Amino acid sequence: MKNIYFLGECMVELRAMSEATLHQSFAGDVYNSAVYLKRSFAQISTSVVTALGQDNLSKKMLERFKSEQLDTQFVFAHDTKVPGMYYIETDEHGERSFIYWRSDAAAKKIVDFLTPDLVEQLSQGDMFFFSGISLAVIEEGARERFWQIVTQLKNAGVKIVFDPNYRARLWKNTEETKAQYHLAFSVADITLPGVEDLATLYNVHSVDAVIEYLQKYKIEEIVVKNGPASVVTKHDNTLQSHTIIPVKNVVDTTSAGDAFNGVYLGARLSGLTIENAVQLAAKAAGAVIQQPGAIVPKDIFQLAMAEAAI
Ligand code: ADP
Repeated sequence: MKNIYFLGECMVELRAMSEATLHQSFAGDVYNSAVYLKRSFAQISTSVVTALGQDNLSKKMLERFKSEQLDTQFVFAHDTKVPGMYYIETDEHGERSFIYWRSDAAAKKIVDFLTPDLVEQLSQGDMFFFSGISLAVIEEGARERFWQIVTQLKNAGVKIVFDPNYRARLWKNTEETKAQYHLAFSVADITLPGVEDLATLYNVHSVDAVIEYLQKYKIEEIVVKNGPASVVTKHDNTLQSHTIIPVKNVVDTTSAGDAFNGVYLGARLSGLTIENAVQLAAKAAGAVIQQPGAIVPKDIFQLAMAEAAI
């Protein structure tokens, strides 16, 4: 059985439905990707690597992971910390605004839980995924250990996958981000950047400029996402441009990129070509943006994927 590990943070989501009603769910980039991968490729063992607390919301979150058939061996319960949380509100013009409480979240401690024995277990995996958000969440003092772990996994033959997913507010300054991203690109076998993510950091504003920028790294597989405009891939020096069919009824683009990543990686682990993996991933992202929220109802998602069968 193929397996993939997603390291990062899942948060408690509170969505304002009306003046007096909040809808509570769970979301976070790596978790979203894990869910969409597992829903599309049930035969791939899909693990979330994170730290929660011992509170009731953490227990519910863990139950949610299990109900999505995710492997939870690497989900740890911190003694005193609790999960991060965010509140999301949409105004009358459809503009979303967020408030976050995550600076002291349990997930910041994830590296502390990864004992040498567990790292040994991770190094039996096929893929290990982390994002720019995962990097920002890991405590500064744990970064050195994190990079040692990633290097150990790479040396053991695990494919390292990185999505820069840049969120300026999570970083002290762009120098800090660039230093961490440099380490990530240096070790990545696969990267899935969005053009927008890299624009502010490296002054690259097109797919070509992103590919050009990444040229200096030895990344086997580059997948550049550019909204509805296109996806461009580079593998073995072959550049391919893939056409995306724009969705007319876009309701909420939250987690489009996450769904894309999960399904793309699941497809690649299942032996699909890059071309077919992109088509399937784009179909998944297209289905997700036609529904509100990061995680869309399972039946709606699976119906869309069944229609896309490649
Ligand atoms: P992110 O969510 O990381 O910012 P993008 O906006 O590039 O990433 O979207 C990720 C993927 O979602 C795209 O590669 C594309 O497949 C799909 N997508 C995004 N917007 C649209 C759209 N309007 N119509 C169809 N597909 C879309």
